[in-house]
Amino acid sequence: EFRSASRIASIGVSKILMIGARAAARKREGRPVIVLGAGEPDFDTPENIKEAAKAAIDRGETKYTALDGSPELKKAVAEKFRRENGVDYAVDEITVATGAKQILFNAFMASLDAGDEVIIPTPYWTSYSDIIEVCGGVPVLIPCDAASGFRLTADRLEKAITPKTKWVLLNSPSNPSGAAYGEADYRPLLDVLLRHPHVWLMVDDMYEHIVYDDFDFVTPVALEPALKSRTLTINGVSKAYAMTGWRIGYAGGPKALIKAMAVIQSQATSCPSSVSQAAAVEALNGPQDFLAERQASFRRRRDLVVSALNKIDGIECRVPEGAFYTFASCKGMIGRTAPDGKRIESDTDFTDYLLETVDVAVVPGSAFGLSTYFRISYATSEAELTEALSRIAAASAALA
Ligand code: PLP
Repeated sequence: EFRSASRIASIGVSKILMIGARAAARKREGRPVIVLGAGEPDFDTPENIKEAAKAAIDRGETKYTALDGSPELKKAVAEKFRRENGVDYAVDEITVATGAKQILFNAFMASLDAGDEVIIPTPYWTSYSDIIEVCGGVPVLIPCDAASGFRLTADRLEKAITPKTKWVLLNSPSNPSGAAYGEADYRPLLDVLLRHPHVWLMVDDMYEHIVYDDFDFVTPVALEPALKSRTLTINGVSKAYAMTGWRIGYAGGPKALIKAMAVIQSQATSCPSSVSQAAAVEALNGPQDFLAERQASFRRRRDLVVSALNKIDGIECRVPEGAFYTFASCKGMIGRTAPDGKRIESDTDFTDYLLETVDVAVVPGSAFGLSTYFRISYATSEAELTEALSRIAAASAALA
């Protein structure tokens, strides 16, 4: 009989995947299910990027590459950091992996000893805590609700720091809340970190290119160069360039950390896919104008979803600065009763009710460590969003 290792004992199958499986089962029964759960853009990878991959195959770039990124891709990443973020990383301060997820995994494997703590503002992308636990670390979750704009504040950070704190992990714009940290939000946090030299900063900038209105994206190292020697700046091509399946993520950080991460990677994957790296070079070096078009399309969808949600009695939705998620409160639904007599006691009850009565799949806030909310991913067509929101409104109105 198979017995799993104790290191994965506390890690269950992701709630998001479970909801996806239930939605898929209902679809197979022929029901008109709308899934607003996907964490990936519905756009296709741009043509020039696909062509670059084909050309790489034809040139014979089908072998192992350098361990943590081809020289061409590292150079493109260094130029990206300089051009878009105003940050100078040398080529040996850059690492490339099989998605930002593997960057996180390499970084925690390379840096955490048993019991080391990682501070994470909540709601958060749940892979963070699962990866940290696999690596022997302890996630320290700090609730940051809608009233605080889903953002960590300096006093909460200060209070959470202990001698065991290894990292603070910030994600802006955030999955699942869409909240982002501008310069004024970051400054007080960076000042706290300056006072605690044993604490390192990990920033996940995956959604950098999906921001709205006049929001000015900024990355901490650009604001506070004194923290560069203990910051890992993570980014990737998955979300910006609609390249989730190509599996390329990258990061900039101090040389010693980057080297330690390469040690982990050398025994995990040997290197990222050669063909995907060639595609990522084109993504970073090629034309960037389609980003603005896609951003405009995401913004229309955001506005559609937020305004429809706020018209529903019992739901309140803050306007997110970025990413393609809304994280609305459904606190007003708690205590109401469904037509079949079942009482809504939690955000999971509410999202189950939506799936079971109107075939709309969304994810409860508890899946991201913060109730009473639910996440909608609006990376889908406006027609589908309109239909889904009208079903959510009807189902909500049927609660008494
Ligand atoms: N970081 C955040 C906040 C994400 O939401 C995701 C994907 O959902 C990732 C990182 C992982 O991206 P990648 O496809 O590069 O592994």
